[in-house]
Amino acid sequence: MSPIEKVEVIPIVVENDKADDLDGTVDTVVVRLTDADGRTGIGESDAPPSVVKAFIEMPTAHLWSQNSEGLLIGADPVEVTALWETLYEATCYPGRRGLGIHALSAIDIALHDLAGKQLGIPAYKLMGGARRQKLKPYCTIYPGLARGGQTVRDLMTIIERQFEQALGEGFRAVKMEVLFYDLVGDAELVNLIKEGRRMLGDGILMALDFGYRWRDWYDAKWVLDRVADYDIYFAEATLQHDDLLGHARLSQNSPIRICGAEHAATRWEIREWIEVGKVAVVQPDISRCGGLTEIRRIAEMCELYGVQVIPHGWKTGILAQCGRHFQAACPAAPLFEFISPQVYDSPLRRDLVSPEPRLSDGLMDLPEGPGLGVALNEEVVARYRIDG
Ligand code: MG
Repeated sequence: MSPIEKVEVIPIVVENDKADDLDGTVDTVVVRLTDADGRTGIGESDAPPSVVKAFIEMPTAHLWSQNSEGLLIGADPVEVTALWETLYEATCYPGRRGLGIHALSAIDIALHDLAGKQLGIPAYKLMGGARRQKLKPYCTIYPGLARGGQTVRDLMTIIERQFEQALGEGFRAVKMEVLFYDLVGDAELVNLIKEGRRMLGDGILMALDFGYRWRDWYDAKWVLDRVADYDIYFAEATLQHDDLLGHARLSQNSPIRICGAEHAATRWEIREWIEVGKVAVVQPDISRCGGLTEIRRIAEMCELYGVQVIPHGWKTGILAQCGRHFQAACPAAPLFEFISPQVYDSPLRRDLVSPEPRLSDGLMDLPEGPGLGVALNEEVVARYRIDG
């Protein structure tokens, strides 16, 4: 074996004017592991970069509050799941959910990358191997929140252009984000969703994201009932994230698949979403739920319940690539979220790693190359890292 010799936690932030919007690609935190032979593995987390860095580098206080770096140095990266358990238990005082799991997610992704490189195999083979030969991403369509006096018509114009770009690029599945909030009442929202379906035409998989619009499940049902004939694949972020009993009532009365859990960490929280929230689809983020190790365990659990896993993903090309490895290895995954660098002008999404996968008739091939199969662009790291 070639043990881990070095652990780096690199906070990366792009200067931007989007602090009043919801764009997760304005920053990232990259964990880079280097082994004794100079190979490297990278991972990232969709969490505040400086806080993840502080968590991974915190000094050891006692057995349940340990320094993660120290546990990784000298370890065999191929023992990915064993290392996951060691780190989980060693940080269970400050970790166990939330930020501790976000940090562990970046480490776990980097371990898959490094172990795959050591063994000369892609990460999905570490996850048990390919369960399908073609991958199906969906492209999220998001015009941004209404800013600077924008009207809902302005947002619909941007959505129409993004639909055209996504279909032109080869996507056959999209999610229309209707984060219109107070710009429209529920009756007008129904009409805008129907307008979105007409823009797309039939034959394109269409999902919806409501951005936690409602606090009353019956209000959500009122809208979903009225768009049920428009072939909507799923309805995301209908109710407040932690309102699991509301999700259960809505799920049991909705004509459309209800999904949730994009903020959930670990299979323990996902199990609550399934058993209490009764959702049809869970959407953990691989860089926040516990990495590739944990999402595979989540997907295996979901098979027992008849629930689908369609992971959230709105970060750089590292997380986009994780979505591919995940779907390759996990049967309970009909789709994965994919942020297209052609639809979104985001420097980190476009430039932090390469290469980008090709898309043909809505589908991608299995990832190639050992590990994740993407490499960091060192110039981009140097330009945007904020740790001097
Ligand atoms: Mg979402």
